[in-house]
Amino acid sequence: MVTNRNLEITGQFTTLTERISKVAIQAERRPEDIELIAVTKTFTAEAILPVLKLGHRVFGENRVQEAAGKWPELRNRFAGIKLHLIGPLQTNKTASAVSLFDCVETLDRKKLAKAIAAEQGKQNKQIELFIQVNTGAEPQKAGVLIDDLPGFVIFCRQELGLHVSGLMCIPPVGENPQKHFSQLKNLAKENSLNKLSMGMSSDFAAAINCGATHVRIGTAIFGNR
Ligand SMILES: *Cc1c(COP(=O)(O)O)cnc(C)c1O
Repeated sequence: MVTNRNLEITGQFTTLTERISKVAIQAERRPEDIELIAVTKTFTAEAILPVLKLGHRVFGENRVQEAAGKWPELRNRFAGIKLHLIGPLQTNKTASAVSLFDCVETLDRKKLAKAIAAEQGKQNKQIELFIQVNTGAEPQKAGVLIDDLPGFVIFCRQELGLHVSGLMCIPPVGENPQKHFSQLKNLAKENSLNKLSMGMSSDFAAAINCGATHVRIGTAIFGNR
């Protein structure tokens, strides 16, 4: 059934992908080098369908439980879905997370790294991992502190053999995000990681200018939550 809401989401998605391409080209980057993660937290399968029908396959969810409620069924209907976990992961939900997600972007502590490694062994599945960096050193925010990053990367890759491919950050509210994006880019380079998940609806242009390879966007596609 085509409803007004569906048409709105289809239009917003198309406009967004055009904006991403434009920003990429202005930054002298190739649009196809920027992966759009459509963030579907709080939205139902019904709202997600128009985006799937346009052929988009990469999505982000914040909570394991919520993802478990909608994505298995959508995966049965649409092939090739890639799901990223972009919210904090509690160790006791590691088994579900490894089974549901293709990528966890919020790896941020040794205990979780060990739990993921163990679970991957049990499920005989390897997922992609991004390390979340707390670039603003905010006490209430998850993420590895900048000074702890090099040691943590080595621990995850060399001691546990995890497939860590990038870094993710959420800049502090009310600060110019550009500084944090540039910092994340430098940190990735210093630690031989080549993927950068940064930029949301309000700041994805700045993130693309700073080298984002993944942007996580919800509101600009689906509307306010
Ligand atoms: C919700 C969320 C997003 C998407 O934010 P929008 O402003 O809706 O685009 C991106 N990243 C994380 C970690 C989120 O929790």
